[in-house]
Amino acid sequence: MVPVREIRRDPLTGEEVVISPDRVIERIPDPGPPLDVADCPFCPGHESWTTPAIDETHRDGRWVARAFPNRRPALGIEGDTAPWRDGLFASVRAVGAHEVIVEAPEHALLSTLPVERTLDALELAVRRMRDLRRDQRFRALQWFRNQGLGAGASQPHPHAQIVALPIVPPKVAAYVDRARTHLRQTGRPLLAAIRDAEIDRGERVVFEQDGTLVCCPFAPRHAFEVWLVPAAPGPSLADATPEEIASLGRAMHRISRALAVVVDRAPITATSLGAPEIDDRVGLGWHVRMAPRLVPHGGFEESTGHALHSVFPERAAELLREADR
Ligand SMILES: [Zn+2]
Repeated sequence: MVPVREIRRDPLTGEEVVISPDRVIERIPDPGPPLDVADCPFCPGHESWTTPAIDETHRDGRWVARAFPNRRPALGIEGDTAPWRDGLFASVRAVGAHEVIVEAPEHALLSTLPVERTLDALELAVRRMRDLRRDQRFRALQWFRNQGLGAGASQPHPHAQIVALPIVPPKVAAYVDRARTHLRQTGRPLLAAIRDAEIDRGERVVFEQDGTLVCCPFAPRHAFEVWLVPAAPGPSLADATPEEIASLGRAMHRISRALAVVVDRAPITATSLGAPEIDDRVGLGWHVRMAPRLVPHGGFEESTGHALHSVFPERAAELLREADR
């Protein structure tokens, strides 16, 4: 039976939450020690353990990256959003897509994977996003990867995920709002202005490599958070050129090595932020954010919505530059 997944809005704060009942089973109880290769559903030889592949990249006669629907998706592909309201209470069906991109045949951290694997995996992810955006029901496409159990990864095998949502997530909507205001007031795209300002100041720059700027953001939500910003990005990661994808992959790889020196094997999330699937995308550009998860969010974050940590980004950039030498 297909579970009923919903996106519900908190009538007090307006915050939206995705409720996907079949996911609970895999999060409770504790997942225990990481899976052995023999039990790993993402390893070569175990292809039949996953849902059938939608797309694969092959090198030298074997797959090096595979895309398939998540077995326990946060959002379901069937039906329409069926908006529902009863007085104060409003929801839509959580209609969307949730895919897994296995990024390599072998187990490795991003910092130890051959860089070619990362490039192939990113190319496959962009290909999948371009396919998904043809579905008119989807308003936002988000790419992310979790590395390490504390970052939410349920598998030790390197993988990324793509979700297609029927609503524009609040973080994306807030970016669109601010970027439009900035464009109206200054005539310049906001992300390009931030990129130039970071390069001018220099104190938060970790490195710039063939077009991709890697810097610690002015107001990071996490200690040692880094942003990877292309020189002249299109609206969303789905619009990335082959050159931008290659540059992003090399920069992700290089900064992962520096992060590994500074935060050791702390879990790390990587996420893309850019334009939603809307008509007016003028002045919007994509970038990727990577953030170690050093401390779990607790009551302070829950009560205020503010992130709390102890590392200024200027200091983080200094340590990452040293580690990058
Ligand atoms: Zn595996």
